[in-house]
Amino acid sequence: MFDINNILRENIKNLKPYSSARDEFQGEASVYLDANENAFGSPLEQAYNRYPDPLQMQVKKRLSEIKSIAPQNIFLGNGSDEAIDILFRSFCNPGANNVILVPPTYGMYEVSANINDVQTKKVNLTPDYQLNVAGILAAVDKYTKIIFVCSPNNPTGNAINRKDIETLLTGFNGLVVVDEAYIDFSSEPSFVQELEKYSNLVILQTLSKAWGLAGLRMGMAFAGVDVINVMNKVKPPYNINEASQQLVLQALQNTDQVNAWVQQTLSEREKLVQELKEFAFVQHIYPSDANFILAKTTDAKGIYNYLVQHGIIVRDRSKVELCEGALRITIGTPQENATLVERLKNF
Ligand SMILES: *Cc1c(COP(=O)(O)O)cnc(C)c1O
Repeated sequence: MFDINNILRENIKNLKPYSSARDEFQGEASVYLDANENAFGSPLEQAYNRYPDPLQMQVKKRLSEIKSIAPQNIFLGNGSDEAIDILFRSFCNPGANNVILVPPTYGMYEVSANINDVQTKKVNLTPDYQLNVAGILAAVDKYTKIIFVCSPNNPTGNAINRKDIETLLTGFNGLVVVDEAYIDFSSEPSFVQELEKYSNLVILQTLSKAWGLAGLRMGMAFAGVDVINVMNKVKPPYNINEASQQLVLQALQNTDQVNAWVQQTLSEREKLVQELKEFAFVQHIYPSDANFILAKTTDAKGIYNYLVQHGIIVRDRSKVELCEGALRITIGTPQENATLVERLKNF
């Protein structure tokens, strides 16, 4: 059985978290002289002279309605990248513990592991970009704290088989992190509904992709209360600034706009796949559950350089293991996609 106390770092277990002015007094008052802020205001139209809510309760309440998750099961980070880093710092002892990665996948897990001096054990995806479940479970040792799975996966675009993720959740006593950055584009359901069933499940989502807010930096982690409480204890007290909190709150009213963009992206994706298939230099387009496609080509570097010369930038993934010859192409506006296809006609 999963027990958070078995995987928590000793220093974090004993950590007395920073107590801010906002933590120590939470009611309403007329005069605030407790946080050394500038009481006059800000040299801006909008006032930002007060520290923001450390636990971002208004944003979480709104997210809770949208995602059907209780606010106490939500952690907000300065991008998903902060959530990933905090997981390492909470659970992995530098120089002692390891995590399991399943390449080809999102690069930040490895960078964050390296920053935290945590060893990575790699178990490649199968040729059809699914989990090698037996290989992963065989790689687990008593020092393994986290397995990272990205679904839909970046850079391959496909969703990972649900049953396989569930096998990891039941077969592994550490945390299984399922990164759902692209879930809004997926035909597969989120793992959010499984949180009650698996206490070792951590789901990452973000407002950077479908929600169109990459510049505001807002990442989410959904997990059991014990895990969320640890993450809140370890994070910097004011990790989400007031401007981001207010703008995100506004943006979260516009679900219709976001849903419409997602639908448009999906139909553009299908159209682009059909058009790209016509080119002789495109050998294969992998199935995508995301807002990008991975295309295997005869000359990735040549196509990449040609497009750069014409002001069109895609991602060359051809040096990534299992992605030989592949370009990753984000779905743009109809106009942008048409420009790409027109340019490729002269390659
Ligand atoms: C883009 C992306 C993210 C988003 O990271 P943010 O820090 O929230 O912008 C997370 N995971 C994956 C797999 C991604 O591709």
